[in-house]
Amino acid sequence: RTRVEDLASYIRDVPDYPRDGIVFKDITGLLVDPDALTEAVDRLAALVPDDVELISGMEARGFIVGAALAFRLGLGFVPVRKAGKLPPPVRSATYGLEYGEATIEIREGTVPAGARVMLVDDVLATGGTAAAGAQLLEELGAEVVGLAFLLELDGLGGRERLAGRSVSTVLLAG
Ligand code: IMP
Repeated sequence: RTRVEDLASYIRDVPDYPRDGIVFKDITGLLVDPDALTEAVDRLAALVPDDVELISGMEARGFIVGAALAFRLGLGFVPVRKAGKLPPPVRSATYGLEYGEATIEIREGTVPAGARVMLVDDVLATGGTAAAGAQLLEELGAEVVGLAFLLELDGLGGRERLAGRSVSTVLLAG
């Protein structure tokens, strides 16, 4: 296996996607390359405190990196799903997006009371998605000890939105 130094080079900028003026970061190239994926998961694993008991991830790319991370650490995984995908009983949270709102859900009974959980996603932008996920996990009794992201987009207020939480990221993009 070749050690990947420049992980950021596997992430592609897609201008004007999904809307004009937005530069979308596409991590597909990182996922498809075995050395880059291994390096990314290893670096995420290094961000997880030893006492974490459970990994949780946001649908959908947070499932990819989160499940790989959970496997790497020998931990279980709790999916935070988009609304309407899980059988009852579920706990929901609705949060604001730039335009409109989104609802996420976790199946009740998946998080043991007091479990120390690390929440994972691919990209931290405004932080709204992760803030809602963390809050929902806490409503279900989890202790969210930290949040980890593959890539943080600088200047979108994600850190501020998650103020008071432990946030760590593998890569930073301006
Ligand atoms: P936020 O709620 O604004 O922080 O947006 C983060 C969520 O949107 C995450 O679930 C990301 O997967 C997704 N997201 C936002 N911007 C990008 C991007 O440039 N590339 C990939 N995913 C993104």
